[in-house]
Amino acid sequence: MSSSPSFCGICDIRHISKPSEVWCPDCEEGLCAECIEYHSLVKLSRGHITIPIAEYRKLPSYVLEIKEHCSEHNGKFQLFCNEHGCPCCGICIMENHSECSDVAILENIVKDVKTSDVSNEIEQLINEMTEIICKIRQNRETNSSAVREQKIIIENEIREFRTKINNHLDKLQEHLMKELTEAEKHITEETRDLMVSLDEKQKKLSEHQTNIVNIKKVCIRPTNIYCRKNNRETRRNSRHVSTVNNQQR
Ligand SMILES: [Zn+2]
Ligand SMILES: [Zn+2]
Ligand SMILES: [Zn+2]
Ligand SMILES: [Zn+2]
Repeated sequence: MSSSPSFCGICDIRHISKPSEVWCPDCEEGLCAECIEYHSLVKLSRGHITIPIAEYRKLPSYVLEIKEHCSEHNGKFQLFCNEHGCPCCGICIMENHSECSDVAILENIVKDVKTSDVSNEIEQLINEMTEIICKIRQNRETNSSAVREQKIIIENEIREFRTKINNHLDKLQEHLMKELTEAEKHITEETRDLMVSLDEKQKKLSEHQTNIVNIKKVCIRPTNIYCRKNNRETRRNSRHVSTVNNQQR
């Protein structure tokens, strides 16, 4: 038996390397164009159904790995033990599955699978799942683009709101600065006026002080009259200065 499905198994026994055209699952070997005819004439293999090697290569590896013959006893698998879930040859059954009660004829199971709708059902299920996956994908993509659009809208709204706040703060600042400038101007003018009046009062006080010093030197009647008058004025000035002083606090 050729180890590779690419080469004809029968020719391989004769040490000839020929590419195989078909695969015989019963013989578990490839056949070249010449040997196909021989294989279909020989009584033992006359009923074997072969598949083109190109089709065979398309089968998934887990199908290719399924053997038709028992590697231990070299006999063809004819039975299937449902308890152990494995195909068995006659000797396998006798040696390892004599206690097993659920053993079926492999041929019947294979026939059942071929005639039943199992493969159709699986195909339909796969189609349905593919459709669901497609829908989920579309859904997610739609969601993503919706979130992206929403993000842009919110970003613009925030930007507009920020501009409005900035404009409002600018106006508020402008208004406050105007009021503060006015207040500063008013206070400056008021302070200047006050300084002028305080200067005058200071000047008068100095004059009075000088006068009192001079009067004390010569104690005559008119000087007393001046002192009384001067006393009233000085008290009045003192009250005014106290009021201004209190306002500073
Ligand atoms: Zn051959
Ligand atoms: Zn065959
Ligand atoms: Zn066996
Ligand atoms: Zn068993």
